[in-house]
Amino acid sequence: MAADRPGKRRRKGSGTTGQGGEVVLRQRTDPRSERRFEPKASLELGLTMLGMSVAALLAGAGVYGQWFRGEDAGAHPAATYLLLGALLLGAAVGLFGQWSMKSLRVGDAGVGIESGPGEIERIGWHDVTGLLLTETALTVQGSGTAIAIPLRSHLPAAARVLAEARVRIPARAADIKEGALPPPDDAAGEVRSLEPPQVAGLRCKATDKLIAFEADARLCGRCGEHYHKEGVPQRCLTCEAPLR
Ligand SMILES: [Zn+2]
Repeated sequence: MAADRPGKRRRKGSGTTGQGGEVVLRQRTDPRSERRFEPKASLELGLTMLGMSVAALLAGAGVYGQWFRGEDAGAHPAATYLLLGALLLGAAVGLFGQWSMKSLRVGDAGVGIESGPGEIERIGWHDVTGLLLTETALTVQGSGTAIAIPLRSHLPAAARVLAEARVRIPARAADIKEGALPPPDDAAGEVRSLEPPQVAGLRCKATDKLIAFEADARLCGRCGEHYHKEGVPQRCLTCEAPLR
């Protein structure tokens, strides 16, 4: 217990705190931040868009040829094929096109994916059960959920996730080789501040005591694990960061 100072310490910036034995216990309202990463437009996305456009054109031409040529002309003989082609192409693009083009969040609140307008699915660092790196993606596994980060469109985000995981939850990232991904680029991703987390109603990780009031909550600044203020252990039970 080198850093046996009373109170808490904060550090601004990317949020990779808790190195070198520094006490990382935080209040719920202490500032937290994360980075938002937009996907890199890729060839796959371009092809997906092109495929959809062509499918729409075929469908339009097919519909016209089949039903809108006027009474006397009747259906154009090619119309059925146009419609069929549109259907097949649309289905193929839907199946194989690259649609995982969502923005990602990486920071104090863990890893998040923008699943809809104003909707972010998050896996807190303390909820991460494993990290899996393949040729194409870094997958963050939680209990009953996972976020796959495609390396092709989201390499800067994947690099940051891995770097933060090595600091915040080193045991979970131990299986991934050093240097498997490039080091994180501090210029990548837009830094945003986070709202205080909702912790009332949760239970203390150490004592199982109900955290009835937000003010009773204490957070591990490294992995985000939550504790009742009366049950804070010497070290975080999840990531072993010194808390006292
Ligand atoms: Zn922790």
